[in-house]
Formats: sequence, structure tokens, C-alpha cells
Amino acid sequence: MRVLIVEDEPKMAGLLRRSLVEEGYAVDIASDGAEGFGAAMSRAYDAVVLDVMLPELSGFEVCRRLRGSEVWVPVLMLTARAAVEDRITGLDDGADDYLTKPFHLKELFARLRALIRRGPVPRPAQLAVGDLHVDPASRRCWRGEEEVLLTAKEYSLLEEFLRRPGAVLTREILLEHCWDFAYEPRSNVVDVHIRTLRSKIDRRFGVRSLETVRGTGYRLRADGGRADARRR
Ligand code: CA
Repeated sequence: MRVLIVEDEPKMAGLLRRSLVEEGYAVDIASDGAEGFGAAMSRAYDAVVLDVMLPELSGFEVCRRLRGSEVWVPVLMLTARAAVEDRITGLDDGADDYLTKPFHLKELFARLRALIRRGPVPRPAQLAVGDLHVDPASRRCWRGEEEVLLTAKEYSLLEEFLRRPGAVLTREILLEHCWDFAYEPRSNVVDVHIRTLRSKIDRRFGVRSLETVRGTGYRLRADGGRADARRR
């Protein structure tokens, strides 16, 4: 098992190295974000222990770039603060788990073992079908290079479709996932929002990706719908 530690504080890096080597791991150290990113790109590690506060590139940025390059090595993020925002940012950027400093080495070992057992899990931070993609962290949407401004409800609907490309989602499923329980599902509220969503992500671009499946619901074409646009 080979682990990469990305940590700029020599004392902390040294302590981690010694204790992980004692546990039987092979350990490499990178002392800034750019070096850490380069190392993780060039070698298949079983796990990366990634400090957030780093020179050159932050731990968040390193993680985002690794996931953007489709490197799915398990990442354990070390945050100095207990700030919940840091943890959320880390997880949104594709980290698998985090520890808040100071931590017990035993906890670090346990979490590393769990991550390594699980192995690399492809888990794109961005969801995409064809040239349509969203960033779940910021809830923004793009068709190609162009950003598409969606309402909160339109965004929620689109994310449901992007999580299951090619699957038919019934009105009931969409109501359940995108509306709260207080809503009385008796009107055509889903259809109304689908219509505005479709005009924003498809019609403006001459694409037909969000299809009506008669009598059932809706489907986002897994092929993105471009090839079929002329049949509309
Ligand atoms: Ca640091």
C-alpha cells in the first residue's frame, strides 16, 4: 500500500510518515499543492492524505484538479479548522473523507484503511450528458461554454435527470425528489417546470435532449439529443 502525504509543515509530515511506515505503508511526501498534484497524477497511490492549507495550490484545488483529470484515488482531507464550510467544500471538490486537526493517529489509520478498502470510486464532481453539464456544488448549469441560468426548481429537476441519463422519470418520482411534502401534487406543476427547463437547456440551442415519454414521464437522452435535433 502506497500513500501520498501532501503536507507543508515538516513536523506534521514527518510524524505522518513515521507512523504510516510503522503501520506498513510505503509513504511519499509532497510539501506543496503543485508537487502533490504532480505526484498523484504520475503514480497510482492507494490513498492521498491531503492538507487543505498548502502553498501553491490549496488542498481543495488539488482535489478538484485530480477529479477533473479523472483520477479517483481515495482522498482524505486534513482541515485545520472545524469550520463546516471547509468540510463541505472538501467533499464537494471530490474528497472522500476528512479529519480535523488535531486528530488521533489511530483515527487516521482507521479512516485510511476504510478508504483503501473501498478503492477508487469514479464520482464526478460535475454531472454531464453531451455538452450539457452542471456543478452540484454551485448549482450552476452550462450548455457547451454558455452558462444557462436556471431557477432553483429547474436546477433540481435537471440534476435528477443528469443523475440517471436515459432513465424515464415519472411525475411522481420528480415530485418526490424536487418538491416538499406539503405540496399537493394535483396540478401540472411538474409539466410547467419541465417546459421552462426545456426551453432554456434545449430549444434555445436547437437540441432535443429532454424528451416526453407519453403517459409516463420524462427522460434525458443519454446521447445528449444533438443527433436527433432535426427530427423535432
Ligand atoms: Ca498546511
